[in-house]
Amino acid sequence: MTAANAVPARASHPPSAACRSLHTYLPTGAQLCWRHELPGSFALDAEFVAAAVPSALAARWSGTRAGFWQAWVAAEVVAKLTGTPILPLVAAGFPVPEDSRVEMVNATRQDVVVCFGRLRAQP
Ligand SMILES: [Zn+2]
Repeated sequence: MTAANAVPARASHPPSAACRSLHTYLPTGAQLCWRHELPGSFALDAEFVAAAVPSALAARWSGTRAGFWQAWVAAEVVAKLTGTPILPLVAAGFPVPEDSRVEMVNATRQDVVVCFGRLRAQP
């Protein structure tokens, strides 16, 4: 999975139970839809880069807002793909260390940062 084949494979549409693609939601309720032809198990997360850092984490974050949300969407993808609850995961260390089970691509488009993740095939 590379940025070149992950990032263009996306779209947005009104919430629809009929769509079998991978979805995530922005705080506004807008649904993002990731359509791709890649094999494997995937997760997707997205946030607005200019959103305020949540107060519960602000004391632990000294970087930019955009950097925070880039780290956050990556943590969400690791949580989703490894079945780990997000709060204990980030409490153990943030940004979350790279997980050898997960491959990820981050992309920022306009005001949204997105992380596309795939569970690596087990040897
Ligand atoms: Zn869809």
